Amino acid sequence: MRDDGSWKTRSFWLATDDYTPAPPLDGSTSADVVIAGGGYTGLWAANFLKESDPSLDVALLEKDVCGYGGSGRNGGFAMTLLDFSLHHLMKNQGLERARAAHLAVAASVHAIEKFTRENRIDCELEATGYFEIATNKSHLRRLRQDIEAAERTGLEGWDYLDQAAARSKLDTPRALAGVFERDCAVLNPAKLAHGLRRTAIERGVRVYEGTPVIGCDAASDPIQFRTPFGTVTATRGVLAVNPWMKDFPPFGRHQVPIFTYAMASDPLSDEQLARIGWPGREGIEDKRNYIHYFRLTRENRIVWAGGDAVYYYGSRTGPKVDRRPETWRYLERTFAWYFPQLAGIRFPYKWGGPVAVTADFLPYIGTIQRTNLHYAFGCNGHGVAPAHTWGQILRDLCLDRKTELTELLFVGRKEIPFPPEPLRWVGAELTRRALKRQDRQMNAGREVAETDPLILRILKKLG
Ligand SMILES: Cc1cc2nc3c(=O)[nH]c(=O)nc-3n(C[C@H](O)[C@H](O)[C@H](O)COP(=O)(O)OP(=O)(O)OC[C@H]3O[C@@H](n4cnc5c(N)ncnc54)[C@H](O)[C@@H]3O)c2cc1C
Repeated sequence: MRDDGSWKTRSFWLATDDYTPAPPLDGSTSADVVIAGGGYTGLWAANFLKESDPSLDVALLEKDVCGYGGSGRNGGFAMTLLDFSLHHLMKNQGLERARAAHLAVAASVHAIEKFTRENRIDCELEATGYFEIATNKSHLRRLRQDIEAAERTGLEGWDYLDQAAARSKLDTPRALAGVFERDCAVLNPAKLAHGLRRTAIERGVRVYEGTPVIGCDAASDPIQFRTPFGTVTATRGVLAVNPWMKDFPPFGRHQVPIFTYAMASDPLSDEQLARIGWPGREGIEDKRNYIHYFRLTRENRIVWAGGDAVYYYGSRTGPKVDRRPETWRYLERTFAWYFPQLAGIRFPYKWGGPVAVTADFLPYIGTIQRTNLHYAFGCNGHGVAPAHTWGQILRDLCLDRKTELTELLFVGRKEIPFPPEPLRWVGAELTRRALKRQDRQMNAGREVAETDPLILRILKKLG
């Protein structure tokens, strides 16, 4: 894929989807609710608001095209993962809060399947489940911790698989054991985003693409979202721009855009597929700090991704940093290590994109004090299913409803700020190096201490 900097070449999924963007805003207007951001979070919120109250006038402003961000570039795992793992979520949040959050996102996995089926969104969804594998003995400990957390939380649909059972799910010589989790699907992310835009428009949402919000006055009544083509005023506003919250003070310090990179292979022949024995077609991750995540597409390409994650000075985003040949070369090497039986396979599609990472690896959802401006951001690289949950929460906040969802641990919590530059870059880079060093040590068979890296502990203290 030749990257020309346009939205169409942001990912394999965007490059291969047939999509015509909606026209931009044409002059100032007013609405009941104005939403900035046409990723899953903004699109689900728009759909749910109209479903709850069809008389509401909802306008959605997207700076580029719907699905331009992670929503059109991700691995397509609709999964329950929050925090680093279920074990971490339980340890950090306690059993009851962790269980409620996990179950809400698991319900979203199934609700996405139902919604896309009922609304004829062909996003190539396969309810495959999720499979995590250990490739060294530290990973084995991590798998056991997750299974124990699932047992203590009383969750169903989790199974520990020994090496033989794990290798019957995926025939890589590297797998020592695995954990299978039932509540996960894989899908085509861009087709989901574009399908959600269609259903939003069918419900009467006014979608304006190519329309960046360049200023937002939350304190004015009504709220004002300014764009180069006019201002949208509304009694309620939603910021759903995820890593681009960096452009909206004071949120710039509450998350950092971190880039993850991916590649898609040529379609595998039946004979090549048989060599890696992947009958259940699960979405798979390993248990490294810098995980690899991989899955099959509908036409049996392998999407192979992760292995590293990079922060750029000044919270930089944009087409230049969407590309990182060094990481792609690294991914080619790790693919060969996992699948020696597929030597020589080509990866013609390569891309990357930002995820919004928060200091404690959990999202923030809430309302700016004494205003009707609501926000949700910080999916930390696993927002496909959670964004459905956030969409419902944003609907409830906009409609001033207290529900079980608005009681979840993400809502209305205190932010932990990142330091200003240059400390932010130094901290991010030190954290990355420490986590990568741990990965190397674990691969070499050494046990590593399972504490947060120093920089995270400092940030939590400061927060
Ligand atoms: C390469 C990659 C792989 C990933 N893999 C997975 C995975 O397999 N599973 C998983 O669960 N998660 C994954 N994620 C994360 C997941 O994609 C995100 O968590 C999810 O898409 C977040 O949705 P969102 O709507 O909150 O944000 P985004 O999709 O980032 O959407 C934000 C939108 O806001 C728009 N915007 C920005 N600024 C403005 C502005 N000023 N005015 C108007 N609009 C604006 C952007 O153009 C964008 O469309 C991955 C992410 C990446 C990048």
